[in-house]
Amino acid sequence: MLELRPSCENCDKPLPNGSIEAMICSFECTFCADCVTNVLHNVCPNCGGGFEKRPTRPTRCATENCIQNYPAGIVKKLRTPDPQKLAEMTRIFGHLPPNER
Ligand SMILES: [Zn+2]
Ligand SMILES: [Zn+2]
Repeated sequence: MLELRPSCENCDKPLPNGSIEAMICSFECTFCADCVTNVLHNVCPNCGGGFEKRPTRPTRCATENCIQNYPAGIVKKLRTPDPQKLAEMTRIFGHLPPNER
């Protein structure tokens, strides 16, 4: 189950459940759309993977599977990428489409 981390790991912009700006990699590294586009260029600084829009967990409880029973995470994972590491990851992965990395 997705953690739904509370904010961008680079700029700390709040990304609550329902945010249309939240992007995640396959490891759930979580960044805002602006950082993914303009800072990371769609290369995760931690794993090299690409990003996709994070799904929203339903707030309407038609079943027990909703945000009230499975709340979003509250622990921030702020870790602004080291510029050198980011450059290295971009060199290795940036020229490949995310599904071929
Ligand atoms: Zn950000
Ligand atoms: Zn990642």
